[in-house]
Amino acid sequence: MSTQNSRISGFHNLSMRERLGKVIEVAGLNPDVAEHMGNTGNLDSEIADSMIENAIGTMNIPIGVATNMMVDQQDTLIPMATEESSVVAAVCNAARQCRDSGGFITSMSGSLMIAQIQLVDVPNPEFACLQILEHKADIKQVCDETDPVLLKHGGGFRDVEVRVLEGRHTGAMVITHLIVDTRDAMGANAVNSMAEAVAPLIAEWTRGRTYLRILSNLADRRLARARATWTLDAIGGESVRDGILAAYEFADIDPYRAATHNKGIMNGVSAVVLATGNDTRAVEAGAHAYAAQTGRYRSLSHWEADRDGNLTGMIEIPMPVGLIGGATQKGHMALHAKNIALMAGALGAEIEAVAKDLVRLGKVRVDIAEELLSKLRG
Ligand code: NAD
Repeated sequence: MSTQNSRISGFHNLSMRERLGKVIEVAGLNPDVAEHMGNTGNLDSEIADSMIENAIGTMNIPIGVATNMMVDQQDTLIPMATEESSVVAAVCNAARQCRDSGGFITSMSGSLMIAQIQLVDVPNPEFACLQILEHKADIKQVCDETDPVLLKHGGGFRDVEVRVLEGRHTGAMVITHLIVDTRDAMGANAVNSMAEAVAPLIAEWTRGRTYLRILSNLADRRLARARATWTLDAIGGESVRDGILAAYEFADIDPYRAATHNKGIMNGVSAVVLATGNDTRAVEAGAHAYAAQTGRYRSLSHWEADRDGNLTGMIEIPMPVGLIGGATQKGHMALHAKNIALMAGALGAEIEAVAKDLVRLGKVRVDIAEELLSKLRG
């Protein structure tokens, strides 16, 4: 959309419909667009407008269901949101072919997320590492106090780790990792808030300066694993198996092939992540970083033949997803507050009222939002 002028003052203050009208006007679009874009499908326009800035509409993506899935001995239907054809069909097919040999067996490493705090300007970085580690109990207390709801659900601070990295321009940096169990939440906002709270203390203890304080998307303490066996009969014989093994080897030694191979894997993964309302970018960033952890970008899946000649496949990837929460907080306090108000059950004008109070209190938390909402409702 090229326009004469992209500087539209006060755009964010307009309603969704007014914004759309403005875009049609300045970009010289066909006014018919308004009717098409005005249909927000199954996402209420009020909710859409509370989710991101400058919203003008929504976009629908088909949700398919993967059938034939046997996961840990249990029949399971899996929702997949994707615009790409053949993805759901391929999953159904692979699931059918490994059903009789037990389907998919899964496990996970836990629900630990990592927040990083970057400390610079410390002449004695190794000494600073110990100063930080000595305060483990204080760090735990500060982290846990920032999220009592997470604590109530069995999550919270688990450990602190420190590393020294040599920056080319900055000199030595001390990087602190807060390891936090975020339970049923993805936990990005949760661990970001903890890092924000701990950073000034680290600066004080070490007399250095902190810059970044944010989660790492390389969620390698939150690994999801799955394995399955395909018999030769199920896949069509030895040559099919050998073709798959050869394709795997190619991907594992050649990044040009690995990128395409892993794109195919993420076709399925991202579709489920999107259909379940999770953050596709976070999972994708983590998956690709994990694929490069040996220093070379490699295949995310691993394929072998078992003693009977059957094809066995496995995958292990970071899976920072949640059943609860979900909104970006960083730099968007007011918007995040609206999301938290929605999570607490606020409707209509209540959303704005609760969000404003959360921001005023400086505590954008779902437990506080619930309290405010019940007060508001008398
Ligand atoms: P959130 O803050 O909306 O909700 C999580 C909170 O819910 C927890 O902190 C806890 O207080 C509460 N909670 C209630 N019941 C719980 C339970 N059973 N288990 C755990 N917590 C429970 O969301 P979040 O998960 O902290 O953050 C996810 C959002 O952050 C996503 O929308 C993501 O896109 C966004 N985000 C991502 C990045 C990134 O990936 N780099 C950075 C910033 C924000």
